[in-house]
Order: sequence, then structure tokens, then C-alpha cells
Amino acid sequence: DPRIHGIASSIRVVPNFPKPGIMFQDITTLLLDPQAFKNTVDLFVERYKGKNISVVAGIEARGFIFGPPIALEIGAKFVPLRKPRKLPGEVISEEYVLEYGRDCLEMHIGAVQQGDRALVVDDLVATGGTLCAAINLLERVGADVVECACVIGLPELKSALDG
Ligand code: 5GP
Repeated sequence: DPRIHGIASSIRVVPNFPKPGIMFQDITTLLLDPQAFKNTVDLFVERYKGKNISVVAGIEARGFIFGPPIALEIGAKFVPLRKPRKLPGEVISEEYVLEYGRDCLEMHIGAVQQGDRALVVDDLVATGGTLCAAINLLERVGADVVECACVIGLPELKSALDG
């Protein structure tokens, strides 16, 4: 798709952020380019419209940027999956392992119901650990996770989704 090139070239790569050795993919420069931002949302909307998706679950924080415009266009509800102690209501939590240490995602109980058809949205997949935690949260409440949508994939990294 000819739109992919413009999207890819709008993403800035920042070496050694947030620590030495990391090549950080910075999507804030994509957001500065309205055509690239719109093309990104459009590509996902074209893929998921008509697939009967009832919920878009966005992962904190950058899944909160791309998830809502997709949800509005495909007519799905938006549910934020947040870092611990941010959501005010009753939550379920899913811990996951990072390269160094652990993290956790939380979701409001009642936001997603049995039988909901879910799309998980984030900006980037590296090991897939974050997406796996999101999938687990949604499946624990009986949702069917149709697909995960990320703007950036880092194929050189071993994916936890493979095994
Ligand atoms: P994973 O769990 O797949 O190893 O890491 C993906 C998560 O880390 C995503 O939530 C993503 O936002 C964040 N992340 C890791 N590296 C980068 C990066 O270089 N750029 C951005 N924007 N996010 C990153």
C-alpha cells in the first residue's frame, strides 16, 4: 500500500532512549503529520470495518492515541487498559514480565462482556508480552480477541507470541 511509506518515514527513531542501546520508535512525529496520522487510522479502519468488532481495547499510553479514532469509525466501544492504580472502579489485573522486572495492566470490570469481539490496539509490538497480557484480560471476561493492531512491529525481536 503506497500509504505505508509515508507512515514509516514520519516515525522518528531516537537512539539511546530511554536508556543506552535502545532505538526508540517515536510516534509523536507521526502525529505531527495529519496525512500520515489519517492514513494510519484509515488502514486499520479498512481492515476492521464490517468484522463485527464490538470493542477496541487500547493499551496505555499510545494505544489511547490510535484506538479511539478506529473505534469511532468502526462503531465499537473503546476500553482503556491501564497501568496499575489508575482506574477508579473495580478492576481485574494481569501481570506480565518485562526485560527487567514486571508490569501490570488493569481493566474495569463490566466494561467488556462475554461475547464481545475485541480488537487490541497499541503503537508497537516488540516481544509481544504487553499484547499477551491484554489478550489474557479480555479472554478472562469472556471476550473473543479477533486481532491485535500495532502501528510498528519490530520483527528482529523474538516474539513471545510465537511460543
Ligand atoms: P513488548 O511488550 O511487545 O515487548 O513491548 C511493547 C510495549 O512497549 C508497547 O506498549 C510499546 O508502547 C512499548 N515500547 C517498547 N519499545 C518502544 C519504542 O521503541 N517506541 C514506542 N513508541 N513504544 C515502545
